[in-house]
Parts: sequence; structure tokens; C-alpha cells
Amino acid sequence: MARPKKYRMVEYVLKSSEFSPDQPTGEVEISMDELEAMRLADIEGMYQADAAELMGISRQTFGRIVDSAHAKVADAIINSKKIKTGNMGRCRVVKLMKCDSCGKTFRTPVDYTGHECPYCHKEHIHEIE
Ligand SMILES: [Zn+2]
Repeated sequence: MARPKKYRMVEYVLKSSEFSPDQPTGEVEISMDELEAMRLADIEGMYQADAAELMGISRQTFGRIVDSAHAKVADAIINSKKIKTGNMGRCRVVKLMKCDSCGKTFRTPVDYTGHECPYCHKEHIHEIE
């Protein structure tokens, strides 16, 4: 039986989708999950296990994604290649929500328009941050 398709949750979407040297010799594409993995590991300084949990993936998968991202960035800088981003792949952009009734926090897709807490089923949730 096929495993259900799992989304990789990201909380951040780049404003700029291209970075380029003056005379690019080629192009690398960095996907949104690779960007999010670098953001969590390199900018936020999170442990891989914690970052993996945030993205809804295993630590092994997170490690693979962040290694791939680092290799692409190195390739782009060392070999003067253009970096393209924006491919969402299996990513889903999420927002952080909090329930005022039970106090739990959880993630929902940014386009989620429901009002019900998945834990206590009351309708007292709001976006945080
Ligand atoms: Zn609740």
C-alpha cells in the first residue's frame, strides 16, 4: 500500500526568487523545503531533530534536505551560478495558530479558513506572530 503523500511544512516564503552573479555560468534551483531547512538550521540555529519536527518530516529526511541545500549554495557561489527559488514541491506554507480555550498551539495551511481547534473543537483560535 502506498504511503499517503506527506506535506513539508514551511513558515517562510522568500520575497526574492532569484539571486544572480554579474555573469552567471549556469543555474541551480533551490526548493522551498531546502530553503526552510537552511533557515531553521543555519539562521535559527535549531537542532535537526527539532527542525525536522517543525517541518513534519524525519530527522534523516531533514538532514538530506539541508545537505542538498548546502551543496547547491556552495555550487552557486564557487561556480558563479544563478540561484532560483520558489519551487514549492511538496511544501505547504503554514501559519501558527493558538487556541484560547485549551491553550494549545498548532499549524494550519495559510489558506485555512476554519475556526475550530483540532484539540478541543472550540472556536476560539487565532493566528500568532
Ligand atoms: Zn482548543
